[in-house]
Amino acid sequence: MLAGHFGLAAAVKAKVPEVPLWALMLSTQLIDVIFVPLYVSDIETVVKTGVGYGNQVIHAEYSHSLLSVLILAVLTGLLARKFWGKRGGFTVGAVVFSHWLLDLLVHRPDLPILPGNLGNLPLLGLGLWRSSTFSMTAELLLIAAGSFMYLRYAVSGTSGSTRLLARRSGVILAVLMLLCLASDVLNIG
Ligand SMILES: [Zn+2]
Repeated sequence: MLAGHFGLAAAVKAKVPEVPLWALMLSTQLIDVIFVPLYVSDIETVVKTGVGYGNQVIHAEYSHSLLSVLILAVLTGLLARKFWGKRGGFTVGAVVFSHWLLDLLVHRPDLPILPGNLGNLPLLGLGLWRSSTFSMTAELLLIAAGSFMYLRYAVSGTSGSTRLLARRSGVILAVLMLLCLASDVLNIG
């Protein structure tokens, strides 16, 4: 779902231009960024349920618990508000939280409500990954919508060489997202 998260951030950039693209891209992946050191130190793990795209159960009980993500979204939103105003702050917080919502859609039930799955509450996940066709289509749609909206925003109000540059930046962004999806599908990295 790496590429899908980026697609959403690109779409948001078109609507909230005061927040830089890098901040939206980072916000959309923030809980996966936190997941990396926890994964490397074996605190959070990934269990393969088969080969190929989305065949995994992710035990990310701290970085991906509903409560941790809500707290992180509020804190990041408050920080972002200092730089990009009220609307920017709200957007960044919402984009941080959007990662969890998209994960909820695709993950098998492995997302805890409380950190460390405290109280052994039911794990959440709607499991769209069970159908690689459905989940890949959803991700492609997010990439397409994000690229289209970003491109339209980037070229608006520009002309001549600036427009060409803006168009190129949109195409590069779309290609990078497709490469992310391809690496996911081919299970590289
Ligand atoms: Zn995630």
